[in-house]
Amino acid sequence: MLKLESVSTFYGNIQALKGISLEIKQGEIVTLIGANGAGKSTTLMSVCGVVPPREGKVFFEDRDITGLSSDRIVELGIVQVPEGRRIFPGLTVKENLDMGAYLRKDKPGIAKDFEYVFELFPRLAERRNQAGGTLSGGEQQMLAISRALMGRPKLLLLDEPSLGLAPILVQQIFKIIEQVNRDQKTTIFLVEQNANLALKTAHKGYVMETGRITLSDTAANLLANAEVKRAYLGGH
Ligand code: ATP
Repeated sequence: MLKLESVSTFYGNIQALKGISLEIKQGEIVTLIGANGAGKSTTLMSVCGVVPPREGKVFFEDRDITGLSSDRIVELGIVQVPEGRRIFPGLTVKENLDMGAYLRKDKPGIAKDFEYVFELFPRLAERRNQAGGTLSGGEQQMLAISRALMGRPKLLLLDEPSLGLAPILVQQIFKIIEQVNRDQKTTIFLVEQNANLALKTAHKGYVMETGRITLSDTAANLLANAEVKRAYLGGH
């Protein structure tokens, strides 16, 4: 579904990605793990067109999307939940969700998806008329994910969904990621610093170090890999 071929991405003179290649098949949850500053967020931004690659190619459903605008990429079915859950604080929960569906015209489908996200996150249903900015951090993350789901993405890009959340909420969010993948067959590309949880959730994983992919394998094999255990799983 998604293929990166030798992608290099720069911020001015700083080369954040040094020729990375990876592949995600339809229906998979694939995680990208690595230390702070390894280039994980930049990889997602290179896919969704926010920071276009300078070299290499990005293919989505066999179509070359390198250099397309981020709006066009959303239209093709790739939706990102950026790090730091950027919801619209002055809009209500309901209005935030409406924004997620702005490209859609299928009213019955939209109504169904409202029900679906409210089932996933009953807290959001309770707070549907409350301004986004008054929600807790965990609820804002729920809203950011739900808003993305309202766009019915084929490929959902999640950047550090666990960031700053209490462990119980992190568990809940990851269960829901698995559920969405199961229910809606949404393909998920998950960037995470919580490597343990990410590898337990994903089918396949990539490990990134200073702009390069250094390992790729099934998530189960990466969880058992001595090097991964030492560097990313706290030796467990
Ligand atoms: P984190 O988990 O901290 O977000 P990351 O693995 O996602 O880390 P990136 O944010 O992709 O890493 O950063 C990769 C490299 O690019 C780092 O060296 C970072 O300092 C640099 N970088 C990121 N954003 C910018 C920017 N806007 N301008 C200049 N350099 C940047």
